[in-house]
Parts: sequence; C-alpha cells; structure tokens
Amino acid sequence: MDSDTEYIAGMDQISRSGEGKRYHLITFGCQMNEHDSEIMAGILENIGFEAVADLSEADLIVINTCAVRKKPEEKVGGLLGKLKPLKEQKRDLVIAVGGCMTQQAELAQYIKQRFSHVNLIFGTHSLTHFPQLLEEAIIKGGTVVDLEENQDLREGLPIRRTDRYKAWLPIIYGCNNFCSYCVVPYVRGRERSRPLEDIVNEAHSLAREGYLELTLLGQNVNSYGQDRPETYDFADLLLELDKVDGISRIRFMTSHPKDLSPRLIETVARGGKICEHFHLPVQSGSNRILEVMNRRYTREHYLDLIRDIKLQIPGVAVTSDIIVGFPGETEYDYLDTMQLLEAARFDNAFTFIYSPRRGTKAAEMTDHEPRAQKERRLQKLSEIQQRISLDLNRELVDLVVEVLVEGRSKSNPVMLSGRTRTNKLVHFPSTLELTGRLVPVKICEARTWNLIGEEAG
Ligand code: SAH
Ligand code: SF4
Repeated sequence: MDSDTEYIAGMDQISRSGEGKRYHLITFGCQMNEHDSEIMAGILENIGFEAVADLSEADLIVINTCAVRKKPEEKVGGLLGKLKPLKEQKRDLVIAVGGCMTQQAELAQYIKQRFSHVNLIFGTHSLTHFPQLLEEAIIKGGTVVDLEENQDLREGLPIRRTDRYKAWLPIIYGCNNFCSYCVVPYVRGRERSRPLEDIVNEAHSLAREGYLELTLLGQNVNSYGQDRPETYDFADLLLELDKVDGISRIRFMTSHPKDLSPRLIETVARGGKICEHFHLPVQSGSNRILEVMNRRYTREHYLDLIRDIKLQIPGVAVTSDIIVGFPGETEYDYLDTMQLLEAARFDNAFTFIYSPRRGTKAAEMTDHEPRAQKERRLQKLSEIQQRISLDLNRELVDLVVEVLVEGRSKSNPVMLSGRTRTNKLVHFPSTLELTGRLVPVKICEARTWNLIGEEAG
C-alpha cells in the first residue's frame, strides 16, 4: 500500500465498512485495467476488506471488465450467469461489475436487466467514489448504477499492488485518436495527462518501497503533456524519471506511430534506465485500410520509424498489434500486412480478428468477408510471426542479458523466470533465491516464446 496515498473522498462516513469481510476481484483486459483493479483492491483493503482466493468464500465479488473486443464481453456474461446460484445460496453476497464494458449505458442496462443478482454497476470514472457506491448498493438493495463521467486524475487513491518489484505507473488517461474500430475513446474519455511532478513523486515513493521496474501506462504515451498548460512532453518525462535513484528499469506502452518523435528515439537510445523496447501497434500494412482505420500514418512512415529505431538503438525489441478482417479488407490488403510483417521483423506481434464495437465508425461499415477467411488470415500471420520471433531470439544465443527475476517458473520449479530489458521471458536453473534481483544470464537456447539460459559468471 502506498504510505502517502491514504485519502479517499468521504472516507469518514464509510470508514471500515468492510471489516471482517472478504473480497474476490476478477480482472479482464489491458494493463490499465490491471492497474485500476489494484486501485479497487487498495480502496477495499482500506475500508477493511481482505482478499480471498476462493470465489465461494467471498462476501464481495468485483469484476473489472474489458470492452475492446467481443470475447472478453462474452466471458463476463458467462461469469455472471455462473454467479447466480452462488448468490441464491448466499443472499448477502454483493456482486459489483465495473470497467470499460459497463461504462457504456446500453451494456450497463443490459446487465441490470439480464443479471438482476448484480448489486452495483459502475464505469471507469467511478473509482473515486467506489466505497460510497458499495455502501449504497448494500443499503439500498436492487442494482445501483453509476456511469457518471468526470475528468478526475484519480490522485491520492490507495493502491494494493500485485507485484513487489514491478509497478504500473499511469501517466495519461483516455484517448483522443478515435481509430474507427476502437471503443476506448468512448469508455475512457479524453486525454488527461498527470502533472509531471506527481508522476516523479510516485516514482520516488515506489523506489523507496523497493520497486525496481516502472511501466508507464497510457493509450498513447507519446501524447503525454499535450493537454497540459506546461511545455513538457513524453521525452522530458522519461528524462526526469531516469534520474530516480533506486529504479533500474523504465518501460512504457503504448506508442502511437503517428506521434513517435525523433527525440523519443534519441532518448531511448541514450539508455540508462529506459528499456530498449517499443510496443508500436501498426494494425495493418495496407495504406488503404490504415486510412479507413483513421490511424493517420502510412506503411512507409511506419517502416521508416522501425528503421530509425533499429539503427539508433542496438538490440532494441519492437512489438506490435495487428487487426485482420477489418471491414473491406481484400486479399491485397492482407498481402500488404504479410509483407510488412516480413519487413518490420517484430520481436512479437499480437494478432486479432476485427470485432465490431457498438458506437464506433467501423461498426457501420459493410463487412462481407466470411469468418473462416479471417481465421485463415490470422493463422497464417501468426505462423509468419512465430518464425520471425524464433529467428530473432536465436540471435541472442551466447549473449549475456540482464534478467529481472520474478520467481520460480510455474511449470518447472528448478528454473527461475524473469524478463530482459527488452521484455523477453528467460528461464534459467538456480537453487538460489534471486527473486527481485537483476541477474546476468547467458542465453543457451532460443524458443519462440522464451529463452533458456544459465547464470553468467
Ligand atoms: N492504444 C493502443 C491500443 C489499445 S487496444 C494503440 O493505439 O495501439 C489494444 C489493441 O486491441 C489494439 O492495438 C488493436 O490491435 C486491438 N483492437 C482494438 N479494437 C479492436 C477491435 N474492435 N477489434 C479487434 N481488435 C481491436
Ligand atoms: Fe483505440 Fe486508437 Fe486510441 Fe489506441 S489510439 S486506444 S487503438 S482509439
């Protein structure tokens, strides 16, 4: 728990209302959602709740939802269905559903009607008054719905962090880009950057608590600062954070290719604590599709960026996201994406089949391509990517890399597991307790998804 972030609005009236009760929290979606869940857990523990691993032992179940594609939404529906008998057995069980899915009024209404055993439905902006909402749901009965929008930066909320050495650090909330397929700007609001001093102060307190690695979070970290009256930008923030004693690694995600500046590449190239990794989603290799997606860059611009990044930052890793089956995507567009994959040589790429999202522009476009065709394209793309990932990993064999050890490998307890500065997963045998240490490891074997090594002298 952050020692200097104990304040919650209205805490005096609702303090310790969770005393003696247990909560179970389930999170879907991205890193920002994982961090929001850390805040929910922090708030709940601050009012007396204790975490419990077994769902059936919980007095309160909180589900933090994701709306970026249909699949996570379906999973939430399935989960809520399964919770009904539990609620029937245990009348005073409280079920709360929040996050990006419920921020959409139609979906909130749907959940309220379809799953009447849910007590509280809240959106992404409701964290600041989460305890009051819970209290209201418990007292009132029925289903409380709170989708109030605000521009809060959520400063000063308590955080119960999941990791001991790696911490999420949000720097900018929301998104202004309105890519035509994406629901995020509708459920997360407009871009709001946190003041630089607040981020740097949080980094110092994390360093004091023993955290070694920070991951700066934002839908588009490159827009950091643009909405603020001050004149600093993302590169300035990185340079400030690089000075924080005690922190060894600084990561960031996600970068939007349209505003990745030469200065940012230079800043990462300087090294220091800033890790040599860019997550730079390209989405498509076809200029025609990029335009309809409203991405505001071309494949040529993107490939120039990759070239500059690789030239200026030796050993850099670049990862990406790709959508296949966007409305109107032809075989030619798809071939352009395949070629881009070969040209960019990503260390890894996350590939998704396009999923229409309510309220977005793309959802109104005609989409004739059969599902089987999209699945075939996805399959082929991931095969190509797997070959490239393995090739790039093979280049690391015999090199010594720095690994931040996260603990014992779940599948093989003889091995320790951790990540390189480029975010690659490494396993190496050791009997020593090295969790939370930065260890030099010599790579002996390359696999598609991870590397095997041995401790280097
Ligand atoms: N802000 C980040 C991405 C956030 S969403 C960025 O701009 O890159 C994470 C990824 O989900 C996206 O990069 C995209 O590849 C995928 N995605 C978003 N909306 C989608 C949709 N409607 N269907 C399929 N994939 C989608
Ligand atoms: Fe969605 Fe585009 Fe914003 Fe990323 S930049 S969150 S893909 S709208």
